[in-house]
Amino acid sequence: MLSIKNLYASVEGMEILKGINLEIKPGEVHAIMGPNGSGKSTLASVLAGKEDYEITAGEITFLGEDLLDKSPELRAKEGLFLSFQYPVEIPGVPMVNFLKTSVNEHRKHKGLKELTAGEFLKLMREKMDLVDMHTKLTNRMVNEGFSGGEKKKNEIFQMAMLEPKLAILDETDSGLDIDALRVVANGVNALKSPETAAIVVTHYQRLLDYIVPDYVHILYKGKIVKTAGKELALELEEKGYDWIKSDNEK
Ligand code: ADP
Ligand code: MG
Ligand code: MG
Repeated sequence: MLSIKNLYASVEGMEILKGINLEIKPGEVHAIMGPNGSGKSTLASVLAGKEDYEITAGEITFLGEDLLDKSPELRAKEGLFLSFQYPVEIPGVPMVNFLKTSVNEHRKHKGLKELTAGEFLKLMREKMDLVDMHTKLTNRMVNEGFSGGEKKKNEIFQMAMLEPKLAILDETDSGLDIDALRVVANGVNALKSPETAAIVVTHYQRLLDYIVPDYVHILYKGKIVKTAGKELALELEEKGYDWIKSDNEK
């Protein structure tokens, strides 16, 4: 589904990613962990197609096609969900309108018919239950005045509505509370199917109490220095990151 080969990326002339290799197959959940400043968010940003990140070597293919050639919008329409791709705030546009437009644009790209108002509402109700979303949020302007937890809920709700093939969630170090973690986990777990995959970028082991990854990768100084099963997350919780640092300083 996603194949990253020998990826090098720089920000403002500073090399951050230094030869990333990663293969994600349908049905898999991958966690990317690592100390602060390792390049986790940079990797997520490169996948999202954010500006400011220069790819200096390597390649990324998504569903067999070159990803790096594509705009962030096209990446999304082809089934990549990137947690921070969506506008932070859109004054004057209610969530429900924004979502209807997004869902229908994605359907159009796939050659599907637009949803009728009734069909859209049915889909929305179904997905709202999933993340325990309230109508008071969907009727509000996109992210306007949302709290951190509400924004997170909203983001996962958008993901559930768009039913992406590959979801990439960067759980920034902003200290999500336990409710927000559960929302993220429910969203990722509900998306799970033999045809879909997820990459969960996290600094904390805690999230992985709710999302059981098939693989855990440790990113350190721009490289994946260790890959193992879910037990690696538990090992990190117990031992911290110091052993990774000392093992890789030699
Ligand atoms: P992580 O998510 O693992 O904490 P980041 O990818 O955010 O790590 O950061 C990796 C390194 O890249 C850090 O040294 C950070 O300061 C630098 N960096 C990331 N994004 C930018 C940017 N937009 N401008 C300048 N430096 C950046
Ligand atoms: Mg960080
Ligand atoms: Mg980060």
